[in-house]
Amino acid sequence: MTAPELADRLAAVRSRIADAVREAGRDERELTTIVVTKFHGAWLVRELYGLGVRTFGESRHQEARQKSRELGDLAGLHWHFIGQLQSNKAAQATDYAEVVHSVDRPSLADALSAAARPVGCFLQLNLTEDPHRGGVREADLEPLAERVLGAPNLRLLGVMAVAPLDEQPRRAFARVRAASQRLLRIAPDAGFISAGMSGDYPEAILEGATHLRIGSAITGKRPDRG
Ligand SMILES: *Cc1c(COP(=O)(O)O)cnc(C)c1O
Repeated sequence: MTAPELADRLAAVRSRIADAVREAGRDERELTTIVVTKFHGAWLVRELYGLGVRTFGESRHQEARQKSRELGDLAGLHWHFIGQLQSNKAAQATDYAEVVHSVDRPSLADALSAAARPVGCFLQLNLTEDPHRGGVREADLEPLAERVLGAPNLRLLGVMAVAPLDEQPRRAFARVRAASQRLLRIAPDAGFISAGMSGDYPEAILEGATHLRIGSAITGKRPDRG
C-alpha cells in the first residue's frame, strides 16, 4: 500500500462523514473519528499521523502496548482501547489508553479503577442474544453504570456498541440511542455514543454517534491476524 492510497481513503471517509453530518443536521465538531489500526504495523500509524490523524483505536492489549511504545516519539497521540479486555490486563491498558470502549462487567470496572490515572469509559452493549459476544445486556446497563460512577478514577462517557450482522444498522443504532437516553437519566454527563465502523458509520451518525471507530475503510484490508 502506498501513502497516496491511504490519503485518498482517509479523504473519502472524511467526506462521507461530512455528508452524513449534513444529512443528520448535526455539527461535525460533535464527532471524534478513531482510526482503528489493529493488526497493522506501527508504520501505518506513523503514516496516518503524517496525514493529521491523532486518535487511534486498538483491540488487543499486547499489540496496542507494543505499538504505543514504538510510537512514543509522536506528540499528541490518543489511544482508545476498543476490544475485549481481561481484568488482569486492565491496569496495564491504562498505561497507554485514555479511553476504554469495552467496559461490560463490574469486575472490569473495578480493575480499571485501580489504575494509576483516570480513564474514560464507554459501557459496551451487547445487541445480540449471544452471551459470548462482548458487552452488557441492555437490561443490565444501569447497575454497571452505577459501578463506574462510583469509581473515583473512572469517567463515564457513554455507551458503545457494534451493530449485529443480522440487523439493519440503522435499527441497531436506534437501540443504542435509546440506551444512551436511559443512561443520561442517571449520568447526565455520559451522553457520548461510540458506534459506527467502516460498513455502517453513516447510519451511526444519523442515530447520534459521537465516536466513530473506523478501520479498514481508511487503512485498507487488515493483514491476517498475527
Ligand atoms: C475492528 C473494529 C472496528 C473497526 O472495524 P472496521 O470494519 O475495519 O472499520 C471497530 N470497532 C471494533 C470494536 C473493532 O474491533
